[in-house]
Amino acid sequence: MAAGSITVLVIAASKIGLLQPLEWGTLDLFFRLRPLEPPDSRIAIVTIGESDIKKVGQWPIPDAVLAKLIENLKAHHPRAIGLALYRDLAVEPGNQALVKVFKSSPNLIGVEKAVGDKVAPPLTLSKLEQVGIADLVLDADGKVRRGLLSVRNEGEQTKLSLGVRLALIYLQAEGISLKMIDEKKKHLRLGKAVFVPFRDNDGGYVRANVGGYQILLNYRGGEDNFAKISMTDVLQNRIPPAKVRDRILIIGAAAPSLNDLFLTPYSSSFNGIPQRTPSVVIHANLTSQILSAALDGRPFIRVWDQPVEALWIFIWSLAGAAAGVQEWFAFAVCPLKKNGFLILAIQLICIFMAGVTLLISCYLAFLGSWWVPAAAPLLALTGSAIASAAYCSRKWQRLALLDGLTQVANRRHFQECLQRKWDETMRNKRHLSLILCDVDCFKKYNDTYGHQAGDACLQRVAKAIVLAVRPADIVARYGGEEFAVILPNTSPDVAMQVAEIIRCKVSDLKIEHSQSTVENYVTVSCGLASTVADCKSAPYDLISAADKGLYEAKNMGRNRVILQEIEIYDLPFSSNYYN
Ligand code: GH3
Ligand code: MG
Ligand code: MG
Repeated sequence: MAAGSITVLVIAASKIGLLQPLEWGTLDLFFRLRPLEPPDSRIAIVTIGESDIKKVGQWPIPDAVLAKLIENLKAHHPRAIGLALYRDLAVEPGNQALVKVFKSSPNLIGVEKAVGDKVAPPLTLSKLEQVGIADLVLDADGKVRRGLLSVRNEGEQTKLSLGVRLALIYLQAEGISLKMIDEKKKHLRLGKAVFVPFRDNDGGYVRANVGGYQILLNYRGGEDNFAKISMTDVLQNRIPPAKVRDRILIIGAAAPSLNDLFLTPYSSSFNGIPQRTPSVVIHANLTSQILSAALDGRPFIRVWDQPVEALWIFIWSLAGAAAGVQEWFAFAVCPLKKNGFLILAIQLICIFMAGVTLLISCYLAFLGSWWVPAAAPLLALTGSAIASAAYCSRKWQRLALLDGLTQVANRRHFQECLQRKWDETMRNKRHLSLILCDVDCFKKYNDTYGHQAGDACLQRVAKAIVLAVRPADIVARYGGEEFAVILPNTSPDVAMQVAEIIRCKVSDLKIEHSQSTVENYVTVSCGLASTVADCKSAPYDLISAADKGLYEAKNMGRNRVILQEIEIYDLPFSSNYYN
């Protein structure tokens, strides 16, 4: 019950996006914890760093320099070159030379920005249809966790991203091409890989923008996880041939001053300012992800469907609810020592261990490339544990105050209530009345009908008394077959009426009692006492007086109510008898 409602609450909280940052946070953590894979030997990045710009002495670097850079790279026969720099405008000197290089490089792909504030591609490459889009998809926290494979603006053709175009050129040489396997679901096959488009509520996402064809990025790593060559080395022809031949080369800006930097799951803000990654490294990751999926069958990041996620949350909620039940620990874990603190400590350890197990399972699933929600079930686990512990302790508290047989207040609770009501009465100068009811000839009843019938009779009598009094009155089992009723703010006359009603209600039950000396059914006798104005006595006096009344009622033939005046006794210590 608790588990079910907590599951609904947690799912509702995650549906409105409250848990999205936490789910992202755990995913990022898993990325950072995951052992780094070896660098992808099919890709190298040609970086334009701060020192390279200094050497050229100009930004944007002139077309002539760019032309030379590409020419030098081409000399070592790379399989494809990506120019991840926006070059929609000519930067003289050397534009003619660059146009010439563009025209003579069928394996060179330039970039454009196709979404939002658009940036046109280099004109020559556009005419040659050698352009990929370089747009990145940012989450609300500014991090790049998704890769854009393609977009289709209204009235335009589908535009593939730089990573896809480079990967397709690479794979063409291996005889692998893209095939549609499910037009409706947009499932595509590329070698060993099957592409499934990202959906708006996948993983920890809540109503994400799913424009274009997106996939979750399964990062290979950061900047250091790819072979790098600096622009200066290329320009000065210091190129290690093995780093270039038959590879995909992506030219991009890495200089901090160019600010082409983005946050990724590797940008941890745990210790200081989160480090940002050049966009060229993100393009390299997407390209690498496509290649390794197509060639090596490296998995994409997969997610569960919503119903499976809901079931997962429910299971942890159940575990939490179970961990919150004290009795289990009291009876199962330490049957000998029922020490409250020990039980609580064991409970806390169990909940903590369950939380750790949950996180470890999510991490292990992540190592298998599954993004399983962690924050929502963790919340469900703790929420359910707290809810069920609170419910159990309330239940225990209630049980500790009740009489097991008749379900009215027990004697201890009666004493506490009487003291409290007494204090209130003294403060407010009102009346407080007390009725003691005793079942007549009950010993004979037991002897005649047996102890079990006696118990059932007591239960029925208790019920009748509860029904006879008002909600504010407190009914308690005072002794074996003796009940007490505390009547706050009640004058003796009204208390007399209540006692009469009790007596009649019990008689009306007509519980057969053939051996009774009073009637041939069960009856009760009642003694009643009330505080008087300016009372200087104690709760004890009230009980004594009611008891005297009861004694008198018995002596006068039973099945009647007797009101008794309070007599003040000499008290040995204070008037707070029960303290
Ligand atoms: P009186 O009219 O003077 O009150 O006579 P009585 O027989 O009711 O009083 P007595 O005090 O002699 O006997 C009370 C009996 O109530 C004795 C005991 O066996 C019985 N009794 C007390 N508690 C329970 C109980 O929980 N269950 C049952 N079945 N009997 C009980
Ligand atoms: Mg009796
Ligand atoms: Mg008795």
